[in-house]
Amino acid sequence: MFYNQRTLAGPVKCEGVGVHSGKPAKMVIKPAPPNHGIKFVRTDLMDHPSIPALFRMVTDTSMATVLGKDGVIVSTVEHILACLAGLSVDNAVIELDSYEVPIMDGSALPFAEAISKAGIVEQDAKRFFFIIKKPIVIEDGGRSVGIYPSPLYRISYTIDYDHPLIGQQTMDIKVESDLFMKEICMARTFGFYHEYEYMKQHGLARGGSLENAIVIEGEKVLNEGGLRFPDEFIRHKILDCIGDFSLLGMPLLGHVVARKSGHMFNHRLLEALFNHKEYWETGFPGQQDRPMNALAL
Ligand SMILES: [Zn+2]
Repeated sequence: MFYNQRTLAGPVKCEGVGVHSGKPAKMVIKPAPPNHGIKFVRTDLMDHPSIPALFRMVTDTSMATVLGKDGVIVSTVEHILACLAGLSVDNAVIELDSYEVPIMDGSALPFAEAISKAGIVEQDAKRFFFIIKKPIVIEDGGRSVGIYPSPLYRISYTIDYDHPLIGQQTMDIKVESDLFMKEICMARTFGFYHEYEYMKQHGLARGGSLENAIVIEGEKVLNEGGLRFPDEFIRHKILDCIGDFSLLGMPLLGHVVARKSGHMFNHRLLEALFNHKEYWETGFPGQQDRPMNALAL
């Protein structure tokens, strides 16, 4: 676990298309000073408006996670945010010349490789953590997601699809940068061919292709080369989960236990957390008695 804040050693460029818009997008991730957090900047708009990657900026989670402020949006932020949180990068400016983050190959691997190549540096400021004090769980119709007190950030996730290729998959993993690079960042998003056809007909997933998602038809994976892991599906759900919880705005110290959860359900838990401040506090590990005003949310 890193105790000091971290940022990139230099700028990183990523280029691709938005999966929903089909529009080309250029993204430059730049270093930022301590206590800056993660912010998106729309360089295609006048005055370059910025949107912090915080839960209160979330405006939609139905097709992708969308952040918005003063009428300006950035869409499909989940994989780049998962990547920065997974690699323990606390401070960065993400410049974007479109309203949608490029989908790349449907995973966080291209971002993670580019960031690793540029390097990550430690900064002269301590990291504040979001520390869970009491278990909090939400359940609804067989789905559940909860967070329990833990000295580490850990995720235990189960999916259960009525499909022979996916079925029930469970993974339990510590969220730390080496494991994120080795086990999680390359897991791609997935969907079924009939859903994809439906979305295309309705003007969605315009940039979607076999280049940026696992596509399942019947009992077969249509992508050449098949899956990157036999359980790539659960690994991607964990990637999404790391992205969702990164919207706390600081690293989490807690054990997330999820069953059949997704962006929308994870956001309901975040909302419950912010409505019930007795379940958590911010501070440094091992100093849980600190006053709670370390960082205003
Ligand atoms: Zn995803």
